Amino acid sequence: MTMESGPTKSGMGILFVISAPSGAGKTTLAHLTVKNVPGVIQSVSHTTRPIRRGETEGVSYHFVAREKFLETEQAGGFIEWVELHGEYYGTSYDTVMRAKEEGRDLILVIDVQGAAKLRQKYRDTVLIFIFPPSLKTLEHRLSKRGTEHQESRERRIEEAKREILESVNYDYLVVNDRIEDAADEIAHIIHAERCRVGRRARYFPDLLAQK
Ligand code: 5GP
Repeated sequence: MTMESGPTKSGMGILFVISAPSGAGKTTLAHLTVKNVPGVIQSVSHTTRPIRRGETEGVSYHFVAREKFLETEQAGGFIEWVELHGEYYGTSYDTVMRAKEEGRDLILVIDVQGAAKLRQKYRDTVLIFIFPPSLKTLEHRLSKRGTEHQESRERRIEEAKREILESVNYDYLVVNDRIEDAADEIAHIIHAERCRVGRRARYFPDLLAQK
C-alpha cells in the first residue's frame, strides 16, 4: 500500500474530538474539515433537545424522544453520553465502530465530559479545543445569534469560561479568529497525527521487516 492510496486518502480510523464553548465556531469548523480533508467523516450524535431553525434531522443530530434515548442507553448503544441543560446527548457505538472498521477518521463535536470518557476508552483519541480570540468576541458572537435570551446568553458565557479551563487536558488548541486559518490548522493536525510512527509504520511492514 502506498501512502497516497492508503492511510492519507481514506483515513486511519483515528478519533478526533472537537470541543469548544458555544459561539466559538465548532460546527462550521467541523463541516469545513470534512469538506477539505479526504478520509474524514463526522459523527452525528443523538439528542433529546428540540430541533433548531436551520438544523436537519440526521445531519445536525438524530433528534429522538427521551424514552428512545434511554432505551438505547440501557441497551449499551452509546459509547459516551451526557446530560446538559436537562437534555441528553450521546455518541452511538455503531458510528465509532463503523468508522474504525472502514478506516475513516471520525470527527466528534462533543463536550468536555464526553471527550474525557472517549479518551478513557480509546487512549489514542486526539482532543482538539477551539478558543474564541477573546471572551469579548465570544459575547459578541452569541449576541449576534439573536436566538438566545439575555439570561441564557449570560449562562452560556459563564459556562464557556468553565469549559475553557478544561482545555489543559486537550492535545491541541486552535484559536478561531479567521475561520479559514482555524480550519487549516485542524487539517494540519489531522495530517500530522496520521504521520505518527505508531499509526503509520504498520502500513509498511516490508520496510520494517528488512534484515
Ligand atoms: P447544542 O445543543 O448547542 O447543539 O450542543 C450543546 C453541547 O453538547 C455542545 O458542547 C456539543 O458539543 C455537545 N454535544 C453534542 N453532541 C454530543 C454528544 O454526543 N456527546 C457529548 N458528550 N456532547 C455532545
